[in-house]
Amino acid sequence: MYNSESSARPKTLARMSQVENREWWLWGFAVGVTLVLTFGILSLTFPGLHLASDRLYLVSLREWVRALAALVLLFDIYTVYQHLQLQRMRRQLNERNRLFQLISENAADMIAVVDNNGHRIYNSPAYQRILGYASEDLTSYSFDQVHPDDQPRVSEAAEKARVTGRGERLEYRVRHKDGSWRVLESTASAYRAPDGTTEGLVIVNRDITERKQAEELLAHSALHDGLTNLANRTLLLDRVTRAIGVAKRHADFKFAVLFIDIDGFKVFNDSLGHGAGDVLLVQIAQRLTTSLRRADTVSRVGQEIESGEAILGDSTVARPGGDEFTVLAEELHNLSDAIRIAERIQRRLSVPFVIEDHEIVVTASVGIAFHSGEDTQAENLLRDAEIAMYRAKQTGKARCEVFDNAMRAGALKRLQLETEMRRAVEQAEFQVYYQPIVSLQDGRIVGFEALTRWLSPKGMIMPSDFIPIADETGIILAINRQLLPEACRQLRTWQQRFPSELPLSLSVNVSPKQFSQPDLASQIAQLIQQSGADPKCVNLEITETIAMADAEKSAGVLNQLKALGVGLDIDDFGTGYSSLSRLQRFPVDTLKIDRAFVSRMDSDEDTHEIVRVIVMLAHNLGLKVVAEGVETQAQLSLLRKIGCECAQGFLFSKPVDKYSIVKLLATNATLLPEFWAKAAGGFVAQ
Ligand code: C2E
Ligand code: MG
Ligand code: MG
Repeated sequence: MYNSESSARPKTLARMSQVENREWWLWGFAVGVTLVLTFGILSLTFPGLHLASDRLYLVSLREWVRALAALVLLFDIYTVYQHLQLQRMRRQLNERNRLFQLISENAADMIAVVDNNGHRIYNSPAYQRILGYASEDLTSYSFDQVHPDDQPRVSEAAEKARVTGRGERLEYRVRHKDGSWRVLESTASAYRAPDGTTEGLVIVNRDITERKQAEELLAHSALHDGLTNLANRTLLLDRVTRAIGVAKRHADFKFAVLFIDIDGFKVFNDSLGHGAGDVLLVQIAQRLTTSLRRADTVSRVGQEIESGEAILGDSTVARPGGDEFTVLAEELHNLSDAIRIAERIQRRLSVPFVIEDHEIVVTASVGIAFHSGEDTQAENLLRDAEIAMYRAKQTGKARCEVFDNAMRAGALKRLQLETEMRRAVEQAEFQVYYQPIVSLQDGRIVGFEALTRWLSPKGMIMPSDFIPIADETGIILAINRQLLPEACRQLRTWQQRFPSELPLSLSVNVSPKQFSQPDLASQIAQLIQQSGADPKCVNLEITETIAMADAEKSAGVLNQLKALGVGLDIDDFGTGYSSLSRLQRFPVDTLKIDRAFVSRMDSDEDTHEIVRVIVMLAHNLGLKVVAEGVETQAQLSLLRKIGCECAQGFLFSKPVDKYSIVKLLATNATLLPEFWAKAAGGFVAQ
């Protein structure tokens, strides 16, 4: 009957019934002996019953009495023995009962004994503690308290326990007296009569509600983003996979994955701190969720609510990581629905956020991958949406782009290029080319700009085809580690071979990725130092767009670089913010006017005027000016006239390899093209 005593208790019971059986025999024997004794005594009282011979009678009587006395004695001894045994067993049983009582009353688990008719014979006090039912409530406590969904399983398990003797472990929900649901873990065992028939069940219930909640929490956190509580990538992929499955079965089921990236989130994070960045992400997540909630949208896709916004079916908002959010919008009619959703998201996000008293305006780039029945994988759809998002970023941010196959081809090409580039770094396929920078006062080469060329097995690849990707992927850092020391060593060799009053200089481009490296200054210092070049002869070119992106931070980085002793040039001036007054805050030495201006200055009066003003203002700020991309004599003449110090361009030389530079330097005075002679004002050949 009781779990814990399963073996000891039936043994005691069997032994007891054995002893009790024997007791019956004993009493039967005792009655027999008493009858014989009575008969003997009666025979003495009634003379007629005397035996024929007195002698014989006397002997026999004596023997009779002796024998009977011995029997009675034996009987008494045995009875006492039996009685002692019975007493001991009863004591044992009482002791066990007491123990059972003690255990069941103090057990953390709820223990119940139920008979075959379902009447509760015993309920341990834990019921009141755990489920709030006092013993009087428990008489009416019944199967009804079990959650309706779980009732079939519970009765099935009880039946099984009755038949097999032991039921399986079962989890089910029961109602607490306060109306809430608790989860119980339960095992039922049958208790049987000595003849083996089941008399009822002993049920041990454990309250596992908290464990269940902890498990659910764990499962939830495995599928949700800790910061925003949105679905994470795993859950999103699962939902997209399911959507693909539904679309396979129902041809008219269409859905889209929207990939949303917050433009310039890094800037918020860096300027306001990560804590504020997190708050912003949480608020963005809330806005995304509320702008997509079904309740918001009232009814099905295809209809319009008053504001003319698209109506959604189900949607899942996820945060796969960082500042990226993803929306799975289901039950769409066509691509326009998805675009309308994207636009709505962008509109909602454009309302300023207030974080730590700062008003923050956010824009988002959205990529859409629309699924209209093709057999694909969830990862592919997500990747397509991401590719479209990148396109939205590239084409000016705060935009929405729909994925098409051309994009996939582009992305694939990009990926191939990236792999190729990594291999090329290992194979040292990147080479430095040098373009001379010429003094417009005397026509001499004063320095070079180092420009990278990729000499791939398929032919020469120009920087515009690989530098942007090299920068995005960080491969530029590896390229630079190879090329900067080599160019610096080259410079030293040329300085030694072609000494001049003002030593030759080397200009090196710094990419956005390099510029954002926290240890840029020390990296460059180390590379220059290893090569043995004089930092004073090395100029670092930073485009004005990079420098102005975060003016305050740039000033710090530029000051660190300046402290190394290197020169600082602002490259491609005129293509970005073009603010000379803001440049004043930076410790720069030289301004390089972008080719776009130089190339038009001889054909367009306004451009000529702009260049003139730039040169004038730069001089006022104490900056030297280099004109980029000089291709014609006319441009050269104009630049000289307006007092531009230096120039570089195809007119003098295209970027060439180191051997060609040696030749150029060797003939510096005499062999530079005939333009020297023709140039307005002419240079003095030396
Ligand atoms: P940039 O720094 O403005 O370099 C000047 C570019 O103008 C070079 O293009 C050069 O060949 C070109 N150029 C010079 N004179 C003329 C001319 O008269 N006419 C024309 N049409 N073009 C002229 P390149 O070598 O193709 O490099 C393009 C850009 O790639 C560079 O612009 C620079 O921003 C980047 N770059 C090149 N090499 C490196 C490198 O090693 N590291 C980094 N970070 N960027 C590099
Ligand atoms: Mg440059
Ligand atoms: Mg430039």
